[in-house]
Amino acid sequence: MEQVSLAEDLAKETGQKTNTCFSCMKCSGGCPISFASDLKTHEVIRLVNLNQLDRLLNCKTIWLCAFCKTCKQRCPNDIDASLVMDWLKSKALELGVTPAMPNIPIMYQTFLRSVEKLGRVYEAGWIGTYKIKTKTYTKDFKLGLKMLGKRKIKLVPGRIKNYQHIRKIFASARLGMKCRKEIK
Ligand code: SF4
Ligand code: SF4
Repeated sequence: MEQVSLAEDLAKETGQKTNTCFSCMKCSGGCPISFASDLKTHEVIRLVNLNQLDRLLNCKTIWLCAFCKTCKQRCPNDIDASLVMDWLKSKALELGVTPAMPNIPIMYQTFLRSVEKLGRVYEAGWIGTYKIKTKTYTKDFKLGLKMLGKRKIKLVPGRIKNYQHIRKIFASARLGMKCRKEIK
């Protein structure tokens, strides 16, 4: 049986044709997280085309991507690298690879749990759960106090009127993921 390449697999699921990339580096030039990343955006695309899944799943960049889409705006071939990063994140979780930035998936999970429960994020609850799970109790403490002083963080949770609709969206997404796994 013919082996499907990483680029083909990714293209099938995200619609991104990474093999059209000619390494012009425009995406990396505008990426706001490139100062902190271990692979530049164009390098991620290059490694996809070179079938380097292990290297990609173990890099920090896929977790740091802010999904701002600057790369897509700048790309002459309309490649949306944010979707590539997202797909690689899902792949890492699916294959049980320990994230290179372990606190970032915890931030996503705690945020989404708050939205699922209330239909919107409850900042104090979200930050509290995140701090407990990541054991970063005192980090950003001063900033937190400042935000509380300016009433940027609500202490009392509130949910939106039709929060059940949001729960249904989460339930459908879970069902979709389960079906996808079964089909594979
Ligand atoms: S901007 Fe597009 S073509 Fe240029 S390196 Fe990035 S992904 Fe490749
Ligand atoms: S979407 Fe991600 S990779 Fe693209 S420019 Fe923004 S942070 Fe960088």
